Amino acid sequence: MDSGAWPCGAREEPDGEISVAGVRLSALAAAYGTPALILDESDVRYRCRSYVAALPGTEIAYAGKAFLCRAVAQWIAAEGLSLAVSSAGELAVAQAVNFPSERTILLGNATPADLRAALRYGVDRMVVDSTAEILRLAALTPRLQRVLVQVTPDVHPPADRAAMAGDDQRSGFSLRSGAAADAVRRVLSHPELTLTGLRCQLAALPTELSDYETAAREILGLMAAVRDHTGVTLTELNLGGGHAVPYLAGDDDVGLASFADRVRRVIASQCAQLRLPVPHLVIEPGRAIVNRAMITLCRVLAVKRSAVGRMFVTLDGSLIETPGQELYGAGYSVHAVRPSNAPSGPATVAGRHGEAGDVLAADVALPADVRPGDLVALPGTGAYNHSMAPGYTLVGRPPVIAVKNGEPRALIRKETISDLLVRDIGL
Ligand SMILES: *Cc1c(COP(=O)(O)O)cnc(C)c1O
Repeated sequence: MDSGAWPCGAREEPDGEISVAGVRLSALAAAYGTPALILDESDVRYRCRSYVAALPGTEIAYAGKAFLCRAVAQWIAAEGLSLAVSSAGELAVAQAVNFPSERTILLGNATPADLRAALRYGVDRMVVDSTAEILRLAALTPRLQRVLVQVTPDVHPPADRAAMAGDDQRSGFSLRSGAAADAVRRVLSHPELTLTGLRCQLAALPTELSDYETAAREILGLMAAVRDHTGVTLTELNLGGGHAVPYLAGDDDVGLASFADRVRRVIASQCAQLRLPVPHLVIEPGRAIVNRAMITLCRVLAVKRSAVGRMFVTLDGSLIETPGQELYGAGYSVHAVRPSNAPSGPATVAGRHGEAGDVLAADVALPADVRPGDLVALPGTGAYNHSMAPGYTLVGRPPVIAVKNGEPRALIRKETISDLLVRDIGL
C-alpha cells in the first residue's frame, strides 16, 4: 500500500485485490452496495493505543465530530479514552453505549438544548466559547459545573488555513486582546461554575509542532496571571486536536512521539519558570484516530477518454458524501480494486454530481483498462466525511461497515429513499 493513508488491516491479496482486515473489497461491495464506507476497527483501536502509549498521564479525548456512531463510542470507551462531544445528538450516541459521563466533555458554542442535555447527562466538563454561553450555563446548571474557557493563542497558520484559526477567529477568547482574561474573571464570578482550566484549538492540520509550544506557553502565561490576580490555580490545560494525518503518498503525520516530547518539555519548563504546578494535560484528536481507519468504496459509473489519453472517470460516490479532504485542502487518492496488468494512465476522477466542482482527484494514475462497474477505493476518508455528508440531490448517505478478523458487520445502514421521505411531512 503506497501511502500512509491506508488502515493497518489493508493488504494486497496474492491476486492483487485489496482486502481490509481479511475481507476483500469486492465481497463488501457485493454485500453492501456502493458507495460504502469500510471501517477497520483494529486501526481505530491501534490509534487510540498509540496516543495512550505516547502520552502516559495525559487525558486523550476523542473528538466525536470527526465520526461518531455507537460502535466507535464503545471502542473509544473500551480503550480508556474520553469523548469530546459537540451536540445533544453526539451525546445521545454516547448515552446509547453508557459512555462514562466523567470522561465526557462538551465543546463550546453549545445551544441551550445542548447545554440542557449535557447537564442531564452529567457531562464532566464544558468548554465555554462566548460570554453568552457563560451566562446561559450559569443560569441553567442546577449544581456546580466544571468549566474550561476556550482561548485563542496568537498562532498564525499559513494563509490557506487562516480562515480556520489565528487570533481573529470567531471561536474562543483572544489571549492577546485580554478577552480571555476577561472571560476567566466572568466564569470565576459565577458561584455555579468551577473553572478548571483553559482550552485551545489550533488550525486544522498544523504540522508545525512549534504552534503547540507557542499555544501552551501563552496559555500557561494566562494561568500564571490568573493565579497572581485572583489566587485561583487552574489545573487543566487542553490543547485540542487538529493533529495532521497523511492523506496522500508522501504526506507526514504530526509525529506523535515528538509531539508528546516537545509539548511535555515546554509545559515543564514554563511551569517551572512561572512557579505553576504542572496542569492536567488533555488533547482531543479526532482525525488522527479515525481518518486512516476508513476507506470509501465506490463503483465506476462511466469512463471517457480524451484524444491525448487522459481518462475521465465518474464514480457513484461524490465529494458531497466525502467532503472532508476538500474542506481541509487535502487530497484524495483513488485506487483500482481489480488487479490489472494494463499500464497506468493519468485520470481525473469525478463524483456523480455533474457540477464542475465535484472532482475528487484531478490527476491520479489508474489502469488504462478501467471500465464501468470497476471498484475503486479512496483510503483515508474516516474523518469529516460521513459526519459532514449533507445528502445533496437526495442520493442518501452511504452505509458504514466495520471489518474485523475476516468478518464485516454493518454499523450504519444505507440511508434509503423512505428515510429521506420520512422527513418530508407537509404539502
Ligand atoms: C475539530 C476539533 C477537534 C479535533 O480536530 P481534529 O483535526 O479532528 O483532530 C478538537 N477540538 C475542537 C474544539 C475541534 O473543533
